[in-house]
Formats: sequence, structure tokens, C-alpha cells
Amino acid sequence: MTRTGTHPVRLVDPGRMLIGGSWVPAASGKTFPVLDPGTGEVVAEAGEGDLADVDAAVRAARGSFEDERWLRLSGAQRAVVLWRVADLIEASADELARLESLDVGMPVSQARIMAGEAANQFRYFAGWADKIDGRSVQVGTAERRLHGYTLREPVGVAGLIVPWNAPMIAVSQKLAPALAAGCSCVLKPSEEAPLTTLALGRILLEAGVPDGVVNIVTGYGLPVGAAMAAHDGIDKVSFTGSTEVGRQIVRAATGNLKKVSLELGGKSPVVVLPDADLAAAVPGIAMGVFWNSGQICTSGTRLFAHRDVFDELVHGIAEYAGGLKVGYGTEPSVDLGPLISQRQLARVSRYVEGGIEAGARVLTGGSRIGDKGFFFQPTVVAGVDQSMRMVREEIFGPVLGAMAFDDVDAAVAAANDSDYGLAASVWTRDVARAHSIARRLRAGRVGINVHRAGGVQMPVGGYKQSGWGRENGPEAIGEYLETKSVVTLLDA
Ligand code: NAD
Repeated sequence: MTRTGTHPVRLVDPGRMLIGGSWVPAASGKTFPVLDPGTGEVVAEAGEGDLADVDAAVRAARGSFEDERWLRLSGAQRAVVLWRVADLIEASADELARLESLDVGMPVSQARIMAGEAANQFRYFAGWADKIDGRSVQVGTAERRLHGYTLREPVGVAGLIVPWNAPMIAVSQKLAPALAAGCSCVLKPSEEAPLTTLALGRILLEAGVPDGVVNIVTGYGLPVGAAMAAHDGIDKVSFTGSTEVGRQIVRAATGNLKKVSLELGGKSPVVVLPDADLAAAVPGIAMGVFWNSGQICTSGTRLFAHRDVFDELVHGIAEYAGGLKVGYGTEPSVDLGPLISQRQLARVSRYVEGGIEAGARVLTGGSRIGDKGFFFQPTVVAGVDQSMRMVREEIFGPVLGAMAFDDVDAAVAAANDSDYGLAASVWTRDVARAHSIARRLRAGRVGINVHRAGGVQMPVGGYKQSGWGRENGPEAIGEYLETKSVVTLLDA
């Protein structure tokens, strides 16, 4: 694995976090190392925040909210700033992509797409900023005449906690609607990959987001994320991450009963009917699970294929997987990068080994690649069933478990037999059947003849234990708003 090009870490101030418009070290003076998952080497130091830094960030955010530094701008004026953020993201998209690749391991070409999507988030929600309207409401009687209307107001200070797997997009999905709504924010990137979030912080300031409106505290989940979830000065937490930590956030939020939205884990099913176009299904399903080395919450990890097409499909996917180029993110034409960390590598390996012990057959992959960095082969296993841990639990790695079915109703039931409900897909040429199955799948997003597609305009989020609330689309802005009813007595 070779590393090429200049170092993009110069986009951030090492060891600093953003509080009240200034780049400051952690109050404790401590830092922690940020690793390049492609080499396992330290590429930067980040400030190791704790309760004091969270307090300072919340004070800065509350101050900016209460003096209406951001909110007093009209929606149209906020839109101008958000549009500028998008322009600046695009202007530095190549550098941001190289930084995201260094931080997460994602191939630079794919990180470049993520930078474009991050810019799209800010453009889309800029468009909403001046369309946050209430409504006039018919209330009162002939004897008691009233005039009623509603206002939609920002929820206040929003705490935004994100994971490491695609930070630019995860951060933008929260910040863009929160800022369009008029909130002030405290943002915590993952300790595994904080760098692009810090670079975005610079862009926000340059675009004209006032000091204190966005504060970034780097550090570990405990104590930083936990302190945010519990903090009385935060009115709402929007969290993306594991279902396990999501539960902890909910518990911590009970103190001041802050609003909570959650984008959590998944174990998404892929249902293939016998009439599916296999030539399209093979690459579509393969990249639906292997993209970003499977470190995507919506990855299609459970394959249910009709017995008539099972062998051809599964061997096609295994062959496709075997042909994927796994390598360092800046290598030319690389398809998949490394996993994020030694811990994640150990976790993925453990699930595969456990599956083999329980009877799974590895058709391709199944092992670590090399001994430098955290690379893992794209892996297809058969001989699995819904009772196995590797099929029930989220692995968050490049592992597909394939199962054959004879009866479509049983396949839909098995697809729905999961604690998760984030995404799903169905593959068939029968249009009516596709839509009928799409309705029956209990998931927040269903693809027909595609596993993962859409855009900022379409809401995403989880059924069941995959989350609360939605990101993207008009639904997302509602997550950062309160509705107020105002009533006037018309007759004295
Ligand atoms: P994680 O839950 O371990 O961490 C997510 C964030 O929460 C990090 O910033 C972490 O520091 C912080 N955190 C950890 N413990 C905390 C605590 N006790 N209180 C508050 N914050 C805490 O998740 P991860 O390993 O970073 O990311 C992988 C997970 O994220 C997977 O489960 C994946 O499915 C999920 N994910 C979901 C979506 C979605 O949109 N549904 C998108 C991406 C990732």
C-alpha cells in the first residue's frame, strides 16, 4: 500500500477545537492521536475535550442563540451564507476529499463524491431557510372570535454527534438543516475521524456563520458525547452512530428531556426474485454491501435470493467481489479502502470466524489483507441462516450473508425479521410486485433494482431500532423546529 501526494492535514489546526469562533486547545491541554487507517500511522493530534470544553462550547452556542446573532438574519440572508458554505466546500472539494480519505481510508474518488453531496446538503437546506412558514388556523366561535396562527421556531441549541464512517456527509446532514432552522450548534465528530469536520468548521467561519453559532468539540464519546447528551444547556441532540450508544443517549437526555433524533445501525435485506436482471443485480448488490468497505449504515448485508437464481447470483457477486481492488485511498482506480481501525478489523474478523464455526461457507474473502493498515477482503458467505449472529447483528464491514428462498412471502417475512429497519431493496422485472414488496418491507428506505440511491431531497431514517426521526428532505428541517400556536382575542 503506497501513499502519494501532499499532506492534506494542513487544512486543520492540529490539537485545536472551535469554540466561540476561536480555535482553542482542550482546557486540559491534552491531545489524542488520529490514525491513518491505511497505514496505522499517526497523522495528526486532536484536542482531547472533556466536560470543561463541552461547557464552554454550550455557553458559546447559548450566547449566540440568545442574542440572536444568527436568528436575527432573515431566512433569505441565512440562505446566502449557507449557499456560500456550499460554494466553499466545492472550491476545496479535492483537498477535503484527500483529507477524508486520510482520515477514514475511503478512496479519494469516492470521498470526492461525498464532498459534492455535502455541498448539496447546504444548497438544499439554504433553499428551505426562507420557507419555514407557519399557518393561519380557524379557531373561535361567533360569540368569541379568535385569530390563530402558528410559528415555527428553532429548537435552540442543537448537539450534533456523528460517527466516523462518512464524516463530511454525516456532519452536513445535521448542520445544514439545523442552521437553516436558525439553531446554534455544538458538534462532536468521532474520535476516529475528526479532521474533515474541523476543516468544515473553517469553511463555515469563512462563509460568514457568526462566531459561536457552530462550535466543534473533539474528543472521545465518553466524556464528550455523553456530556452533550446530558447537558441542560442543549435543547436537542441529533445522533448518528450505533444503536447501543443511541440507547445511552436517550437515557442521558432524560435530565432536561431534550428532544432526540437518532440515525442508528442497520442489517438491511436484499430480496432477489427469480425474474431479476442478474447482470444488473450482481454489481448493484455487490456495491450495495461493499461500498466504503461495508462501513455504511444502509449496507445490504442480508441477501435473500430465490433458489432458481441463487447459485448464479451469489457466484456472480463472489466473482465481482474477488475482482475489486482493495488499497490505499490515493492509489489509482482503487475500489475499497481499509476498515477504520484495528478494533473494527478485529470485530469484522471475529464475526466471520464465528460464522464459520457456526457452519457458514466462505465463497470469497474472509481474511485480513497484509499486516499494515486495516484492510479486509470483500467477503461473501453462504450456508448461513437468520439465527446466526453474523446474520442478525450489524458487522459494519464488507461481509454479505447469502440465503436461498422458495416462497416470496417467507422471504419478506425473513427480511423483516430483524431488530433493525433502516434500508432494504428488491430486485425484479415485475413492476407491480416490486412496489407491493416495497410496501411490505419494514424499512425507512427501499430501493427497487438498486440498493442505495436517492439524494438530499429524500428523507432517510430508521424503522424499529434503526432510529427516531429523519434526515434529508423537508422532514429534516422539522427535526430542528418547535411549533408555537399564537391566539388573539379579536373582540375586546
Ligand atoms: P458509535 O456509536 O460508537 O459512535 C458514534 C459517535 O458517538 C462518536 O462520535 C462517539 O464518540 C460518540 N459516542 C460514543 N459513546 C458515546 C456516549 N456514551 N454518549 C454520547 N456519544 C458517544 O458509532 P461509530 O462506531 O462511530 O459508527 C458506526 C455506527 O454508526 C454503526 O452502528 C452504523 O450503523 C451507525 N451509522 C448510522 C447511520 C445512519 O444514518 N443510520 C449512518 C452512519 C453510521
